[in-house]
Amino acid sequence: MIRLFVPTPLAADAAVLPTLDQSRYLSQVMRLKIGDDLLVFNGRDGEWRCVITEVLKKGLVLKAEAQVRPPATGPDLELLISVVKKSALEFAVEKATELGVRRIRLVVTHRTQVQHVRMDRLDAIAIEAAEQTGRVDVPMIDEPVKLGELLDRWEAGRRLMFCDETGGAPATAALQTAGEDPWAVLIGPEGGFSPEERERLRALPFTTAVSLGPRILRADTAAIAALTLWQAAVGDWERQPRASLSTPQQNGA
Ligand code: SAH
Repeated sequence: MIRLFVPTPLAADAAVLPTLDQSRYLSQVMRLKIGDDLLVFNGRDGEWRCVITEVLKKGLVLKAEAQVRPPATGPDLELLISVVKKSALEFAVEKATELGVRRIRLVVTHRTQVQHVRMDRLDAIAIEAAEQTGRVDVPMIDEPVKLGELLDRWEAGRRLMFCDETGGAPATAALQTAGEDPWAVLIGPEGGFSPEERERLRALPFTTAVSLGPRILRADTAAIAALTLWQAAVGDWERQPRASLSTPQQNGA
């Protein structure tokens, strides 16, 4: 079934107004008509089955009928990634959303080259990825902040997986002893971390420096690799394999 993100509140009988683009997609591409159902979520109120009630010039009108899934968030995992060139950053945001990160913080490091970021574009990518993955939440994406400032006001209790291209503990070994704590994964820019940054990061009590193997990965690949390892070791992959979510219908029965 089609899943759509809307920013407005969802509650029983609430009118839901998709954007003109969404309306066009629903009626012209997907050929939905009055009386047809679709799933809608807004990142806060879970997932709702909505029915199309009106087709107007300015777009469709839906009515929220029933909540089919309650609000939920995945494990408390954040991605901290240096601003990198547009294509890599957009790819990382899309894949991090699919991989279930709760929040993405853009970071400016000593060697961060790219200055300009289209936040609206990144938000749209995260929303689209959330629509496709079946998430009922959408990761929040924070405007770029200097790495030093982020570390100065680090949240107590959150651990940091510092992906260090110059080496560290193998990531799988480092995560073996990890418990249920909140975590963040830190990925540097194309030029890597400066020696001063590396020194500071390694001296912090909440940081684990990890290696992602003998090859230098692009920042977007490194993000995917690190998030994957974390999800497999301490995230929700073990606890909640996809099969446990399927209804008989989805199994084709
Ligand atoms: N120019 C750097 C590479 C930077 S790669 C160099 O040649 O050394 C961009 C980021 O991806 C790095 O800062 C790091 O966070 C991550 N990364 C890439 N390969 C990695 C590896 N093998 N182990 C750990 N982190 C890695």
